[in-house]
Amino acid sequence: MSKKEHTNTIANRLTTAHDNIQFAIQKAEKSATKVKLMAVSKTKPIEQVREAYEYGQRIFGENYAQELHQKYLQSRDLTDIEWHFIGPIQSNKTKIIAESADWVDSVDREKVAIRLNSHAEALGKTLNILLQVNISESTSKSGILLSEVNQLADSINTLEHLSLRGLMAIPDVYDDKQKLIQEFNAMHTCFLELQHQYPSVDTLSLGMSQDMDIAISCGSTMVRIGTAIFGNRN
Ligand SMILES: *Cc1c(COP(=O)(O)O)cnc(C)c1O
Repeated sequence: MSKKEHTNTIANRLTTAHDNIQFAIQKAEKSATKVKLMAVSKTKPIEQVREAYEYGQRIFGENYAQELHQKYLQSRDLTDIEWHFIGPIQSNKTKIIAESADWVDSVDREKVAIRLNSHAEALGKTLNILLQVNISESTSKSGILLSEVNQLADSINTLEHLSLRGLMAIPDVYDDKQKLIQEFNAMHTCFLELQHQYPSVDTLSLGMSQDMDIAISCGSTMVRIGTAIFGNRN
């Protein structure tokens, strides 16, 4: 077992997560040289976000619009905190998402992109955007197909207050390693093509606790970790 274990505080868990990321980078052949860590703070109180921030964590993810908004308002004094919205987007929530988030990582419809753009314009800000891909082509997951990426990227590129930064995916199953590798590699290929077309593209958000090593070995530039930093959700 080469993964280190520390005792149970947020600071120690963050250290462990960074160690695990470094270990996966060293072990992999074609990984990115730098992989960012998103701390997924859903259901956790703002005090725990602040504790992680105090220990150097800057990127946080939330997947309920109302909860993101609340935590955004409670952390406005932390000027370099970076909030990502990673949940399904309802049209009637685009306004509070645009207000609260720096990044929206789950964009999968032109209609939502257009709404986010006009809210961002009104707020005088630019939102960083990831397209969510339904990589397992599962009917229960949100996201577009890989074959639809170019079309949605093109339309986002015309919206002045959105900056296209890359792709995000949540796979369906974690127990079939070969299938995961195949899906992550397909994402990576699509990411490189997109980057070739749009120089602003620099982020491939793949991998959670269970599949972080595989995601990093397939070229992920950002992993999303919740429980392993903040503990179990009730
Ligand atoms: C909750 C969530 C995570 C983190 O999951 P954990 O099991 O808590 O590590 C990552 N990505 C997304 C999209 C999530 O909703």
